[in-house]
Amino acid sequence: MRARRAGLRAGAAAITVLAAVGAVAGSAATSGADRDGHQARHHDRARNVIFIQGDGMGLSTRELIRLATEGKDGRLTMDSLDHAGWTATDSADPEEAVTDSAAGATAFASGVRTYNGAVGVDADGTPVETLLERAKRAGKATGLVSTAQVTDASPAAFGAHVPDRYDQSEIARQYLEETRPDVMLGGGEDWWYPAGDPGAWPDSPAEDPTEESKGTEGDLVERAQELGYEYVSDAEGLAEADGRRLLGLFANEETFQQANEGEGDVYDPEVPLVDMAAKALDVVSRDRDGFFLFLEEEAIDEFAHRSNATRTIQAGQSLEATVALALDFQRTHRDTLVLVVGDHATGGVAIETVDDEDESGAGATAEDGPFPIPGTDLEFTVDWTTGGHTGEATPITAQGPGADRLGGAQLNTDVHDAVLRAMFPRR
Ligand SMILES: [Zn+2]
Repeated sequence: MRARRAGLRAGAAAITVLAAVGAVAGSAATSGADRDGHQARHHDRARNVIFIQGDGMGLSTRELIRLATEGKDGRLTMDSLDHAGWTATDSADPEEAVTDSAAGATAFASGVRTYNGAVGVDADGTPVETLLERAKRAGKATGLVSTAQVTDASPAAFGAHVPDRYDQSEIARQYLEETRPDVMLGGGEDWWYPAGDPGAWPDSPAEDPTEESKGTEGDLVERAQELGYEYVSDAEGLAEADGRRLLGLFANEETFQQANEGEGDVYDPEVPLVDMAAKALDVVSRDRDGFFLFLEEEAIDEFAHRSNATRTIQAGQSLEATVALALDFQRTHRDTLVLVVGDHATGGVAIETVDDEDESGAGATAEDGPFPIPGTDLEFTVDWTTGGHTGEATPITAQGPGADRLGGAQLNTDVHDAVLRAMFPRR
């Protein structure tokens, strides 16, 4: 153990040296270019893409995270990127006005609007190529990381094609046998083992007795290992992992417990998103052809579904730390496009002045708070209008080659087109 720890430290030092070399090379490449063309010559295409999604993160939610974290004069790292715009979030569902995460992510991943629940297929059920698959076809490394099940709708829309988002074992099978991302980190172990085989995370744990293995495709963890994936199930295993292909499953379902305030709500993932992201970056950044990496904080959405402002803020801060990590990487790897976006908004968040006379609603969607505003004596409350999704646009911020294409008003399908063009510019 001692020796392995020392080895890890040496590894970290080596990465620091490499990063410094990258920084020098980056400044050499940009020196002599004029202000507007400073990234045009050597960094006109995005060799790498880090696609960061806050599930359910509309503008009001992003502002909630900012106000609670940085106060009135502060700015979130996720709001500091060079380019900013917003994206409409509509799906092509025949019955519902507002998108779900499956259709939202399919629009981002494939540039196609589809029905709610569809993963990587169009409105007719036909598979549509995803940004991850396109990157893979060009020889790039790829990765999917989420605090949800790694087979949940959002990552699935980048790495699988199924007509029904809840077919999570089939999604896992497609990851292994068809799409083959180099890195998969998140929750959802229950869909990788058949019933009766608990895996590393026991069935029916005290925090949620309904969690148990329910896989329909056999032992997919064993299958992953046969196919060359290193498999880990906890933080220590992840820290020590050194495989070129990596599967980490850190919970039966989500890596947190979705619930109303004080009713069993827990946000304390076995591995924080930022640590999963750091390991994923370590692995995919070894590929000389570049990489496409999808990182998602799911708990922003899920706690907003429960009108739980405390945990929504906490999840937002987790995403914020992950964006900071991605921007650190981008500073020394200028040919990296980083974007931060939400697939839709959730809960109808309203930030309000504390006022006992103001209507608050009843039950779960009653106001939360008051929450202090850092740097002031003020407090605010959070009011909710729904336990579902809303149709508001979501902010998008971006930095790196092609980021300018993501400024201004976008459709969700435009986001796909812009990222595709950043990776593969038209000549
Ligand atoms: Zn949702």
